[in-house]
Amino acid sequence: MDPNTSKPVLLIALGGNALIQKGQEGSITEQFENLRVPGQQIARLSAEYRIIITHGNGPQVGNLLLQQECCDAVPKLPLEILVAQTEGQIGYMIESTLDQELMALGIDERPLVTLITYVVVDRNDPAFRNPTKPIGPAFPPEKARSLPYPTVATPKGHRRVVASPRPVTIVERREIQRLIDMDFIVICCGGGGIPVIREGRAFNGVDAVIDKDLASVRLAREVGVDIFMIVTDVDGAQIDFGTEKARRLNRLTVKEAARYLAAGHFPEGSMGPKVAAAAEFVRAGGRRAVITSLEKIEAAVSDPSVGTQFTP
Ligand code: ADP
Ligand code: MG
Repeated sequence: MDPNTSKPVLLIALGGNALIQKGQEGSITEQFENLRVPGQQIARLSAEYRIIITHGNGPQVGNLLLQQECCDAVPKLPLEILVAQTEGQIGYMIESTLDQELMALGIDERPLVTLITYVVVDRNDPAFRNPTKPIGPAFPPEKARSLPYPTVATPKGHRRVVASPRPVTIVERREIQRLIDMDFIVICCGGGGIPVIREGRAFNGVDAVIDKDLASVRLAREVGVDIFMIVTDVDGAQIDFGTEKARRLNRLTVKEAARYLAAGHFPEGSMGPKVAAAAEFVRAGGRRAVITSLEKIEAAVSDPSVGTQFTP
């Protein structure tokens, strides 16, 4: 296939709702059904854009962690292996959905690839001294004391807690670059990627999780994408969220984003990393970043009144 570097690059970071909507059980049938919404839009957009897709893995890795607790007949798997498993499982589901949607458009030869992705983290990242990210099932306090890993009290019960270090670099950035230059649709950085630390010549996986929005902006900067889009279950960032005064911000400068973040409008662990990631992208020279909802992926590309659009 001819290199097609004339098409701009669109990176789409899919939130958890692309696979499981609020209130659903999360069966595989539901997940495939949900994926049709982004799948149809991305298939159409792929005519005009080179495409990179990243995605979260919270509920999927949560289920695998629960399975670890339920079975003693086989050895327990470390978190890095479970993240790798979700990259495979979700990548497969996105690929097969996109494949179908591309065929429905009469496009039979667009290549797709899912890449197991390593993301380097810093062993001195302060997050390792103060793990804050709860993962997996909730346990009663008596059970939590006997577990072989640290836990934290949450409203649901005691949950395993791991560090959420900042992504330093995407190990496969060159592979991803070359694949999109050949017009492959690349699915990568699933669940924020497998966190690794360089030890000598080796990369070793660590028990941690990387925020998928922060991993996605790292990749967007390293590959040099034209549009960085974060897709979730609300059409953009709101100020005074959850109150009567709530209002979606349509245009946001880097300065305004910093001011609203500091004022506490965008909480850690939900809208906070999305606004921080989008603002970082344009601050570093990126052309356009957008936060929007799953239904509006296509609209947000062409209509600047959709979502929250970040400008320098
Ligand atoms: P994802 O799985 O897409 O990463 P998250 O649940 O982490 O989704 O983040 C999206 C959620 O953030 C929304 O469903 C909304 O409830 C919440 N949220 C918190 N603060 C805001 C805000 N200021 N504006 C919009 N949504 C917000
Ligand atoms: Mg999230």
